[in-house]
Amino acid sequence: MDNKTKIPSKAPPELLTDRFGRRLNYLRVSVTDRCNQRCAYCAPYSEKFKNREDILSFDEITRLVSLMVSMGVEKVRLTGGEPLVRKDVTDLVSMLKDAGVKDLSMTTNAVLLERFASTLTLNGLNRINVSLDSLNPEKFKLISGGGDIVPVLRGIEAALGVQHHHLLAVAQHFDGGPLGLIVPAGHGGEGLGDQRVRANLHP
Ligand code: SF4
Repeated sequence: MDNKTKIPSKAPPELLTDRFGRRLNYLRVSVTDRCNQRCAYCAPYSEKFKNREDILSFDEITRLVSLMVSMGVEKVRLTGGEPLVRKDVTDLVSMLKDAGVKDLSMTTNAVLLERFASTLTLNGLNRINVSLDSLNPEKFKLISGGGDIVPVLRGIEAALGVQHHHLLAVAQHFDGGPLGLIVPAGHGGEGLGDQRVRANLHP
């Protein structure tokens, strides 16, 4: 075969790097700007949300993430707003796992987690990060714009039930202490945070 008839080989996609040449393998995807809480530091009541047609569809997100995976991205975190208020977001979890995301996680306020914890896990979500400002019900209510902590704690409990071999982290920004980590017992932790959540749910 002479040079003229050679079929040019398709160059493999370049790996993503920053300007210092370091590999980038982590991507955060905001799936909605909506939320079911109104935290004082984040979401003013006057806020206007984007029109549905102005946000990426699940197919579009999956195409973009697939491209990123081919360029070396291994970890993807779904965020919002609150990702669980996006209709059928559990389907997106399946689509992204099928697209080859190795480590798929979600940051959530956990208000709807009790309903979705099992399906999220079944569909391939690897980790859940719960953003929780306080375990004190009154403080929580104040910070979250009138929110009720009970569904949040139930959501965490449900996730602990189905995510038993994964880390579940709870950040307590406003309780003054260090970050509270929920590590299911037997997986590098003694379940300290787990006990605190359960103590608040079942005093
Ligand atoms: S739960 Fe998170 S996204 Fe929702 S209003 Fe509070 S800080 Fe903002």
